[in-house]
Amino acid sequence: MFHSISNKLAVTYLLVIIIAFGVVNLLAAQSLENYLLGERRVTLLTQANIVSGGAATIIDSPINLEFLARESSKRFEVRVLILDAGGHVLADAFGSPEFQGKPKLTHPEVIRALQGESVANRHLLPEEGPVMYAATPIVLQKQVVGVVFFSATLDDVYTTLREIALDQLVVSLLALALVVVISLILSRGLTQPISNLREATRKMAAGNFGVRVQVEGRDELAALAQDFNSMAESLDRLEESRRRFIANASHELKTPISSIKALIDPLVGEHRVDEATRRDFLEDIQRQIDRLADLTGELLHLSELERPDRTLNYAPVDLAALADEIVGELRPLAQGQEINLVRTGSPEGVSITGDRRRLSEVLTNLIDNAIKYTGVGGRVEVEVVPVGEGARLRVSDNGQGIPAEALPRIFERFYRVDKARSRATGGTGLGLAIVQQIVKQHGGVIEVESEPGRGTVFTVLLPKGINL
Ligand code: ADP
Repeated sequence: MFHSISNKLAVTYLLVIIIAFGVVNLLAAQSLENYLLGERRVTLLTQANIVSGGAATIIDSPINLEFLARESSKRFEVRVLILDAGGHVLADAFGSPEFQGKPKLTHPEVIRALQGESVANRHLLPEEGPVMYAATPIVLQKQVVGVVFFSATLDDVYTTLREIALDQLVVSLLALALVVVISLILSRGLTQPISNLREATRKMAAGNFGVRVQVEGRDELAALAQDFNSMAESLDRLEESRRRFIANASHELKTPISSIKALIDPLVGEHRVDEATRRDFLEDIQRQIDRLADLTGELLHLSELERPDRTLNYAPVDLAALADEIVGELRPLAQGQEINLVRTGSPEGVSITGDRRRLSEVLTNLIDNAIKYTGVGGRVEVEVVPVGEGARLRVSDNGQGIPAEALPRIFERFYRVDKARSRATGGTGLGLAIVQQIVKQHGGVIEVESEPGRGTVFTVLLPKGINL
């Protein structure tokens, strides 16, 4: 039964309440007992005083004293004894044989009364139970001539106390029952969200990434539920992108394979194919195989880049010099399309720490794209400037641009605005995904702005990089 949080809480509440009630009840009972005994003490002493006033004048008349003792005993419902100045019994209201023949009483109350004090104390007698003795001196002309001694049962006080204790017990038990019910409800309220989270976690572990938990309130459990939901959303997105990636990759690989199959079938078929056609077909097959090689090569490269344990080959890199180098390499390609490829920005070195080979991939891909998607006679500008301790690379063109709805997706693997056109120019749709991955690995960011028909600007911000 202690295996659930709600039971543990209920038992804890219960123990706390039992201890609290126990202590409070005990203290209350004790102070009530003290109060009632105090009351009784005052009453008895007052009554004894009245009797002692009456006894003072008749101290020499045993018959009158006997009468006074009996009358007072009836009136005050106590046993009344009247003693002489030596503590010997002169009169006993109950006339019991044990006090015949004037025995001497030696109770502490009597002794102190003989010294002139009025005293009342509680005693526990083996047979009668709790009683109170009260003794008060009989004073005549400033002389103690005797003592009035009361013996009163305390049964009524203890009966009252017992009745009150019983009431307390009943109230406490009712309160406990109420506490059990309330604590069960409260702890259910606490553990229900935990159970919901467990349920959802189990579903997620079984592969259902669509599960969400209800967020109620604003406590830590609600925050946990919210975190769970964001985690589920991330996993959902990841799963979705994985599915899309597999579908896209299969499709991309299938296209050249289907072409190759269509080209090979006639070559190995029954019909003879003339030499010129055979050559054409073989050249087409070679192109498709090159494309397959490109695709698989880039896919492997991308998965290599995405491996979390893959570290960069860090070294100081002069981005300005690197940009000059790549612009030089791609100039013939640009010139082939009469594109004006220019390098602007800092003429000085712009140095950061990074992986030179990968950073050159970033520049090559961006400039190659800019040339590919800019028409004849266009202009492509490559700018490198230092920014703070890092650097900014900017590749702008005045080409066809990218439609606004496509902008958020161009870094996705295999995404191309115009599939047919991209494929015709040899694009795989993986270039920008690779670029983004490399920029991320360097702790940088890449942004794109574009206006269809006016041109596109890719901006890469790179931090200074680690200290070597
Ligand atoms: P691809 O191999 O097709 O070039 P990328 O990942 O490099 O693949 O680019 C994705 C898509 O983004 C391209 O197909 C193209 O539609 C668009 N794109 C990239 N760069 C430019 C640019 N400079 N101008 C216009 N469109 C571009």
